[in-house]
Amino acid sequence: MEALAAIGRHRFKPKYKMTKYGCKHCGDVCQVYKIVSPSDLKKAIRVVQDNIADGIVIESDFWPQQNLKISHEPFSGIQVNGPYDDFLIYYFECPECKQLFQLSAETYHGSGGLWKPIDRDSL
Ligand SMILES: [Zn+2]
Repeated sequence: MEALAAIGRHRFKPKYKMTKYGCKHCGDVCQVYKIVSPSDLKKAIRVVQDNIADGIVIESDFWPQQNLKISHEPFSGIQVNGPYDDFLIYYFECPECKQLFQLSAETYHGSGGLWKPIDRDSL
């Protein structure tokens, strides 16, 4: 069932998997994906949207305690082609093992950003 659902979905490349994070369920998204261009950002948004659609990750309520929470659209409200806020930051988690992930991108200055698994305790 998982394989069928994955057909036609946007995915990160599994060769960059980081085995120290996550579990079997979320293994494919346990990797660092660098966003260095607007097309990378679109790809990252598509990949995350498809992984949400397939239940691999869910948007998380997590927010680092020491940081002021930025109010923003829920991730489900983001359009792949923008317009975006100047700075995007979203947290996601695996519903099985609670591994946390962060998607961040500065869209205003040319879209540097990152998708990565993170440790809750490191923030
Ligand atoms: Zn997991």
